[in-house]
Amino acid sequence: MQVYNPFHDPLVDSIPGTNQDYSPTYWVASAGLPPQTNGPVPGDMDADVVIVGSGATGISTALYLAQEYGIQAVILEANQTAWGCSSRNGGQGQNASGRLSRSQWIERWGLDTAKRLDREIRTGFDNFAQLTSEIDCEATPGGHLYVAHRPDKLAYLENEAHVKRSIFGYKPQILSVAEIKERYCDDRDAHGALLEEEGIGIHPLKFNFGMLKKAQALGVKIYTGSPVLESKSINGIEHLYTPTGVVKAKRVAFCTGGYTGQNVNPSLKNKILPVLSNSLVTRPLTAAEISATQFRSHVFLTDTRKLRFYYRLLKDNRLQIGSRSSIHGSDAGNPKHYQLLLDGIARKFPPLAGIQVDYSWWGWVDVSHDMMPRITKPNPNTNVWYAVGYGGNGVSFSTWAGKRLAQRVAGKDQNDPVFNLPIYSSELEYPNIFGKIRSELFAPFRRFGQSFLYRWYWLKDEVI
Ligand SMILES: Cc1cc2nc3c(=O)[nH]c(=O)nc-3n(C[C@H](O)[C@H](O)[C@H](O)COP(=O)(O)OP(=O)(O)OC[C@H]3O[C@@H](n4cnc5c(N)ncnc54)[C@H](O)[C@@H]3O)c2cc1C
Repeated sequence: MQVYNPFHDPLVDSIPGTNQDYSPTYWVASAGLPPQTNGPVPGDMDADVVIVGSGATGISTALYLAQEYGIQAVILEANQTAWGCSSRNGGQGQNASGRLSRSQWIERWGLDTAKRLDREIRTGFDNFAQLTSEIDCEATPGGHLYVAHRPDKLAYLENEAHVKRSIFGYKPQILSVAEIKERYCDDRDAHGALLEEEGIGIHPLKFNFGMLKKAQALGVKIYTGSPVLESKSINGIEHLYTPTGVVKAKRVAFCTGGYTGQNVNPSLKNKILPVLSNSLVTRPLTAAEISATQFRSHVFLTDTRKLRFYYRLLKDNRLQIGSRSSIHGSDAGNPKHYQLLLDGIARKFPPLAGIQVDYSWWGWVDVSHDMMPRITKPNPNTNVWYAVGYGGNGVSFSTWAGKRLAQRVAGKDQNDPVFNLPIYSSELEYPNIFGKIRSELFAPFRRFGQSFLYRWYWLKDEVI
């Protein structure tokens, strides 16, 4: 196994590595041994369906292909099982996908489509809930607490609650500071919160190992240490080039998330902006610290910052917190990004200021240029599909995306009207300027824009 390279950058390196060790996450340290894999591709081989990437999307696609359609797919993974986001995330399973809120769905697509999309994402969340009940993954139901980090953000949360209640039939609650303290924790940064009942925290790596075991029991093979260097369609057969052999496949599904390299397939070039998310886990809190912070719950929280913090008390009473700040892989280890998370802890939970951190890591989130995912076949002349673009909201929805992707790859999507929904019926878009002009020509400038936006977001979050 190769040493883990923390400075990998999907816009710079063509592949995420070859047989690299895991990122040093709390999840890796506490998940137990990964399921046995088939190791690197043993030489040139033929396959019916190949899935590239073994995160939650890739594994669930393989699971449902086998379970629903009797198709035993082959997974090709550059490094280790669930090596990308799926072993690094916050484990916050929300009733959501992409970065847009439900009120933004209505603005973009109108009421009818927004309601249909809500039903689809909700069905996906229920399916995720079922999976978490079948797999030993420390599932913590109880919802999601969306915290107003400034008094003026409460109006925004109240509006979201109103939309969710009156249009989509949910039962969100608005909580006062006193109610947050009484029921959840003494978050000193909170000025009220929206409680969504739908939300399940998980141990993401245990969850993915569990899904893989189910898939393997149905005949799925996973070749780890097998990066796809490039792929070509030749006479209707997809050729996937790995360091140890060429895999020829009738059908290929790319599930490469934020780790999608620029050359892995023409349909994905410049279609995703990989965005870094940093995370850390403290030592277990003492009884005195639990009492000082008044933690009474393991329910997960996020806040209303554009560059939001996501955090929760883990089952063994460690605090996990994450956010976004670095832009380039080469800068990911800069202490200022780590400090941002420590400052976040001190601000929200002053009794924990300076607490010892046991684990720190980061990973690449797949943000699409219109902030919503796509599960589609981009080019009718090839046999290539992809499911990417969850924008940091993929813990729950990736498993449903995998189920829909399996349906499509199996050719069972023709007469199902759900595939008229925009996340299924259109391709990922190129970058845009002001949400209006879209072009691949803007791709080289995306990180300038991101850098500018991060400063603007910081001003809006903290100053203006
Ligand atoms: C720090 C962090 C925190 C997050 N927190 C949350 C959260 O709390 N809630 C939430 O909903 N979402 C969160 N997310 C996002 C979430 O983790 C993902 O949306 C989800 O795991 C789905 O992942 P995936 O399977 O699509 O991609 P990944 O898990 O990233 O898997 C992609 C895989 O493809 C492999 N790969 C890439 N290129 C190749 C190639 N050429 N050949 C072979 N293999 C290749 C990679 O090695 C990788 O293992 C977070 C992400 C990060 C990084």
